[in-house]
Amino acid sequence: MSRLVVLGGGESGVGSAVLAKVKGFDVFLSDMGKISEAYAAMLDKWEIPYEQGKHTEELILNADEVVKSPGIPSTAPMVRKIAEKGIGIISEIEFAGRYDSAKKVCITGSNGKTTTTSLIYHLLKQAGLNVGLGGNIGKSYALQVATENYDIYVLELSSFQLDNVYDFKADIAIITNITPDHLDRYDHKMENYVKSKFRITRNMSSDDCFIFCSDDEITIRHLDQIVMKAQKLPFTQKEEVPQGAFVKDDRMIVRYKEDECDMYLQELALGGKHNVYNSMAAALAAKAMDIDNEAIRSGLATFKAVEHRLEKVLSIKDVLYINDSKATNVDAAWYALECQTRPVVWIVGGTDKGNDYACLVPLAQEKVKAMICMGLDNTKFHESFEGIVPEIHDVTSAQDAVRLAHDLAQSGDVVLLSPCCASFDLFKNYEDRGRQFKEAVRNL
Ligand code: ADP
Repeated sequence: MSRLVVLGGGESGVGSAVLAKVKGFDVFLSDMGKISEAYAAMLDKWEIPYEQGKHTEELILNADEVVKSPGIPSTAPMVRKIAEKGIGIISEIEFAGRYDSAKKVCITGSNGKTTTTSLIYHLLKQAGLNVGLGGNIGKSYALQVATENYDIYVLELSSFQLDNVYDFKADIAIITNITPDHLDRYDHKMENYVKSKFRITRNMSSDDCFIFCSDDEITIRHLDQIVMKAQKLPFTQKEEVPQGAFVKDDRMIVRYKEDECDMYLQELALGGKHNVYNSMAAALAAKAMDIDNEAIRSGLATFKAVEHRLEKVLSIKDVLYINDSKATNVDAAWYALECQTRPVVWIVGGTDKGNDYACLVPLAQEKVKAMICMGLDNTKFHESFEGIVPEIHDVTSAQDAVRLAHDLAQSGDVVLLSPCCASFDLFKNYEDRGRQFKEAVRNL
């Protein structure tokens, strides 16, 4: 019996272990940290042996293959030892892909993955297809391959999940955009990060589609250097294209094969220039899946924003509160500011990932009347925006941020939480930050 060891007992690790069990492997799961009660209960239910708080070498280095969870870096000592012994290391996505004959629409990129993935899922589901949603979002892909039976999967894939794929093949692959992020995991080399994103196109043939943003210079530069067998479908807001999606006047136009689908930008459920990109990418994927134009239009018009992504929370005395807690990098915050049409009280701050705020200065100058820095170290914000934004304040909780914003904002303003930073200095994660913000707003 082949022995499969899973490193990491979170969503993807436990899902992989269940799939391995169902497929008859001698499976063992090991986690250096603590496994949550819910996942431990699941491992017990499936009678999967596991350990937590340690990695026992004798139980790991006898593996035929190892599934590594995306959160564990390849430099972790145990991973190094496994590699030194010549044991193959794969990701959950690679493992599950071996047992899945469903059609796969896969989405990666620096920003817009969750939104685009959710949009595509919504379009396909509304069109009546038997479709599953997974990867970096919701339930583990491997668990679903083990326990469900879908004809199609829409999978959100982070670069960490793509790092250990080899034979996995998407039928439709999307790269939303590429901007610097997570470079600490890529030897601080942008090229490594770009290559990791492009792994989503591995093994694709001429029957498959690659959907990408042709306004994104980093994507285009890399695409020019490689051989891409898949059919290339660009989306752009800069020019008309013979195949792909583009904007003309106040409409979005999607051209695929002989057909064309168009829609007024005003009808799109999601506002902002970035969401025009996401909607174009989703519409192209739906077209390539043979969804008819009416279904695409109605799906894009009825979609509800995903939590923590430019989510409108409440309007109080004509001040609109927006939760964009997921804007954990500069590019995402740029788009959040770009689409604001009212004066902004901007809540920023958190753990800096080596950010450069220069590109935000023109938008801040034009739109931001006050900044509230919610972080333990706000030095860089002060350095970058003093003299640009009329007033800058410091707070250390969501409650204080919201109370102060309430005092500073006047009727007609927007209070925007779009922090540009990770949340780990003051919060558990970006969801926790977003929820605390919303709760504070509701308590005003
Ligand atoms: P991801 O899953 O890649 O992190 P999300 O859809 O969760 O992307 O959005 C993350 C943040 O980026 C949000 O603040 C959102 O408003 C912003 N965003 C969404 N789509 C784009 C895009 N195409 N380009 C730039 N920023 C975007």
